[in-house]
Amino acid sequence: MRRVAPLVVALIACALLASGCGRPVAVRWANASSPLTPASPEQSRTEPPSPAGSRLHSPSPELGHTSSPATSGPAARTGPSAASSSGPAAPGTSTPPAPPAAPIPATGRGPGGSITNTGTDAVALTFDDGPDPQYTMQLLDLLKEQGVKATFCVVGFRVRSHPEVVRRIVADGHTLCNHSWQHLDLSKRDDNYLAGDLQATNDAIHAAVPDAPIEYFRAPYGNFTPGMVRLATRMGMKPIYWSVDDQCWMSSTYGTGPAMIDHIATMVRRGTRPGGIILSHDMGKPQTIAAYRSLLPWLTSRFHLEALPTDQPHRSGQEPR
Ligand SMILES: [Zn+2]
Repeated sequence: MRRVAPLVVALIACALLASGCGRPVAVRWANASSPLTPASPEQSRTEPPSPAGSRLHSPSPELGHTSSPATSGPAARTGPSAASSSGPAAPGTSTPPAPPAAPIPATGRGPGGSITNTGTDAVALTFDDGPDPQYTMQLLDLLKEQGVKATFCVVGFRVRSHPEVVRRIVADGHTLCNHSWQHLDLSKRDDNYLAGDLQATNDAIHAAVPDAPIEYFRAPYGNFTPGMVRLATRMGMKPIYWSVDDQCWMSSTYGTGPAMIDHIATMVRRGTRPGGIILSHDMGKPQTIAAYRSLLPWLTSRFHLEALPTDQPHRSGQEPR
């Protein structure tokens, strides 16, 4: 009997282990779903929800862009698969930041036939919805410190209120982009309205800086239509979309403060590739400024950053580049 008792105990133990096989399977499944372990709250945040999809959401009161890279074209590559193909994780983060090598295809197009890439290996930072007398100025200081030129997509009525900020943008050698008069969804407006809106915005910019080149247009919310693209082109402006959306406007999903700073940095690190155009916002967005404080050194060590090029030279008090 002394030999039988341990045998029985061993059999019972084996039976218990066998019945618990679900657990290891469950752990394996969890790891397979996320190649980066352990799964952190930030990882789950960076998997974009699939907003029901269409890029033509109702505009939110928050000035931002309703398109998500997961659903609106070339920026879909900012998802977890891009992250899993990159290099070793930086200390203290679970997000490998090394950039994918393949450039954004120069032939890629966004909504309405808009442009999603620089056409070269250069990466363009674009900041929308300003000018903001506080945060645009802070961003300009930061860009100057880091020796980086960018593109500012400005809103007409704010240009009229803060012409001094636009003068500083041009004086610092950045590129201007028309972002409409008051950030309405223009996709359902007729050509007359559209032409008046875009011209009023250009007039406000030229009232601030008379000879500033305005060779780019970005539709509010990225809601380009083919007609809008044709009209902007006739007015001498290239329609620019983006390849990376930092999602700073999705504070209801990703949070504010440090959480949003992390999210912006993660989206930009994951999505930036040679030739890319990065969508960010300076209007009322202190998190953007904070995120770019760490992003700029990271970006400049990996990519050539440039202001979108203009055919017409800047002539208004521009400092030499
Ligand atoms: Zn905007």
